[in-house]
Amino acid sequence: MDKERQINLLDLSMEGLTRIMEDWDEPSFRAAQIWRWIYGSLVDDPQKMRNLPLALRQRLTEACYIGYLPVVERLVGDDGLTEKVALQSHDGQIIEVVLMRYAERNTVCVSSQIGCPLGCLFCATGRSGYSRNLTTGEITAQVLHYVRQLHREDARVTNVVFMGMGEPMLNLDALWQAILNLHHPEGLNMGLRRLTISTVGIVPGIERMAEWGTEVGLAISLHAPNDALRDQLVPANRRYPLAQVMKAARYYVEQTSRRITFEYGLADGVNDSDACAHETAELLRGMRCHVNLIPINPVIGGDYRPSPDERILRFQEILTAAGIQTTVRISRGRDIEAGCGQLRLRQQARNQKEMP
Ligand code: SAH
Ligand code: SF4
Repeated sequence: MDKERQINLLDLSMEGLTRIMEDWDEPSFRAAQIWRWIYGSLVDDPQKMRNLPLALRQRLTEACYIGYLPVVERLVGDDGLTEKVALQSHDGQIIEVVLMRYAERNTVCVSSQIGCPLGCLFCATGRSGYSRNLTTGEITAQVLHYVRQLHREDARVTNVVFMGMGEPMLNLDALWQAILNLHHPEGLNMGLRRLTISTVGIVPGIERMAEWGTEVGLAISLHAPNDALRDQLVPANRRYPLAQVMKAARYYVEQTSRRITFEYGLADGVNDSDACAHETAELLRGMRCHVNLIPINPVIGGDYRPSPDERILRFQEILTAAGIQTTVRISRGRDIEAGCGQLRLRQQARNQKEMP
């Protein structure tokens, strides 16, 4: 049977898998057995599921597959602490995944779309255009890529951030199923508190997370403290202006009791003035939050330069004085273009050059 008509087992929920077993007149406990092979033993082939009857293994092999994605490029930087792979989707596109190793944790940064339709000017993904949403299986396969690699090193993926290519809130249904699958106790059993979704500020998505009262963390890419500036940097702000984003953010904190992270990318002479820092402090006053200050990485064809270190420290000083917790995020992986979308952008630039 060709792959188009086969089922990717990574797309299924435990309930979905159980229903298939029932349809096939198999006992429903087979679903948990299969789940443990995929997410516990990390097998890549139903034939290796030794405690299943031969006939079931055969049927699984014919009707299903486990959708691991092949590596087309691997880059290692920061003396091995950061690495990035380009995985290839079945339709020949690039899905970028990053691993960041820290003393206490190994964080995988996962993509939710191929490209992004929201077009932030400083962002390589935004500049590369939009192709499509990723499936639950493709999102899960990115995590499994590094689960398998770290397993060989006797280490574990401890955290997942949905901060790779694309806007997670525009693909929340597929992403949420992937989150539930990563969290399932029969498999990887990842704690929800160790997962974080980053959004540019898609209000309905933030509201849905608030309504679910989830423990999954939320990061909002702020980048500017007023609509005039934010409209330029983040075009999605024209659809969901700051007041609406902040209202949804407060609702999330209220419903989940979790602190929000705000990402603020500092671009030289654009959004890094003292006035911007004071305005940001005012905007976030009294809110349970943390601000990550990140120098904007230059991208191919982009106009923005990172703010100088002393500007970043001054910005931080102003927020700190206003009682707001901040971290200056050392930008990991600059030497390997780890900021997501850059491989895809580079590939496109290459293709364009190669055109007659
Ligand atoms: N679409 C989501 C998640 C993916 S982008 C979002 O925008 O939040 C992940 C993070 O990388 C965002 O905070 C984004 O603003 C940031 N980012 C994008 N391009 C960057 C660049 N050139 N330098 C630094 N941060 C960048
Ligand atoms: Fe899309 Fe996020 Fe990049 Fe903006 S920063 S273009 S929302 S991926």
